[in-house]
Amino acid sequence: MSTTKMTEAQTAGLNKVVDSFSVSTDRLKVIVDQFVEEMEKGLDHQGATIAMIPSFVSGRCTGDEKGSFMALDLGGTNLRVCHVTLLGGGEHTIRQQKYVVSEELKTGPMRHLCDFIADCVDSFLTENGTSSSQETIQLGYTFSFPVLQTSINRGVLKQWTKGFNCSGAVGKDVTILLQDSFRRKNINVNIAAIVNDTVGTLMAYAYKHPETAMGVIMGTGFNASYYEQMGNVNKWTGEKEQEMVINMECGAFDCERRVLPLTVYDNKMDRESINVHQQLYEKMVAGMYLGEITRNAILDLVDQQLLFNGHSSKELNAMWSFETAYMSTIEVDNTSDLCDTGHILESVLNVPATTLADRQMVKAICNAVGVRAARLASCHIAAVMRKTKKVGEQFTVAIDGSLFEFYPNFEENMAAAMSEVLGEQARSKVCFDLARDGSGLGAAIIAMMAAKH
Ligand code: ADP
Ligand code: MG
Repeated sequence: MSTTKMTEAQTAGLNKVVDSFSVSTDRLKVIVDQFVEEMEKGLDHQGATIAMIPSFVSGRCTGDEKGSFMALDLGGTNLRVCHVTLLGGGEHTIRQQKYVVSEELKTGPMRHLCDFIADCVDSFLTENGTSSSQETIQLGYTFSFPVLQTSINRGVLKQWTKGFNCSGAVGKDVTILLQDSFRRKNINVNIAAIVNDTVGTLMAYAYKHPETAMGVIMGTGFNASYYEQMGNVNKWTGEKEQEMVINMECGAFDCERRVLPLTVYDNKMDRESINVHQQLYEKMVAGMYLGEITRNAILDLVDQQLLFNGHSSKELNAMWSFETAYMSTIEVDNTSDLCDTGHILESVLNVPATTLADRQMVKAICNAVGVRAARLASCHIAAVMRKTKKVGEQFTVAIDGSLFEFYPNFEENMAAAMSEVLGEQARSKVCFDLARDGSGLGAAIIAMMAAKH
């Protein structure tokens, strides 16, 4: 590897790319203001951009809830089947198994997907010796797509996201579809609750930390939930004198493209995604998309003959080939010749040869995309704090997802942006806590609350 310095042309080309990903303090403030406005629209009427879906989870968790429940988690990388025992005192035990959902199942008929899930539950029960029980097992179904709920265990799928696209599901009640599969296969399980993963994460963290105010997912996808007074929810026709967790479905924010600082690299990725022009905020923040945005920026510099001497590879040319996890590895690469970065580019992605300048440029692009994601990801939290008048108060946010867990400095970059928007005094009262894989526990807690009623 030659240790050439970046040429002037390379520096100029790189700076242009990096600048396109920068988000100023003023822009952050504009985004937060718009976000509060969009939240209000979503609470006012059906059909707003941010759906603001009442979850039918009302009341707080005390940590003293007890009992045994099953939980399912569909909508991330794997299907998880869990058996959770709530012990009280904020303690629980969990047994769980992961199953791979094939691309074929993700985009085939919904009935095949439901039958697959039922088979996984069946084999889990058999393997864990729980199937002989005569009693119906109550299950919390974490289904992490936009569902318009009509009760705690009824909800119609609004649209698919995150690469799922099964036929025969949009507009249908997804609990009934899965319950039908259980019935056909004689599996003695009742779906007591349908749960969004953000709501599950909130409840799971609240089991030990009852003051938790928000649940956020930053993994494959991006979404959040928080407690709202139902008297503030004009579209809600039920009891107003209560608080309820609202599934924001905030990944859909600004699909009108008014305030988000979209680049040509974002637009290219969006155009080639399954859900074009939808989930634009999610697409700038979530793990599924950051690698692809970075790949587009890299290829732009290749095409300008500023990277890899103008050469790409079959692998690098393939959509989605640049994984977001590579960005984490590249960002922490502090070796003098950036050899980990070189390894990813040359050995994993088969780029013919890279100079130190090439590696530095790729690293700078990853950093720009990663920092922008974290800065934008803080906006919805600042907006919720403003909307619920919690700025300046203690505010605990439970966050699940590999992006938040593993991406270098993600939390610090979120905090810095929040400090710019709300001031350091207010920021210092906000806790971003990692709540790993909470949705299983959360769904079990919600199934328990539902079974109690
Ligand atoms: P899910 O959201 O599917 O339930 P995760 O929270 O594990 O599961 O998120 C998986 C996503 O996180 C992957 O799509 C990937 O984009 C991203 N990811 C996985 N590992 C890393 C990593 N080391 N650094 C950054 N992002 C990662
Ligand atoms: Mg998850």
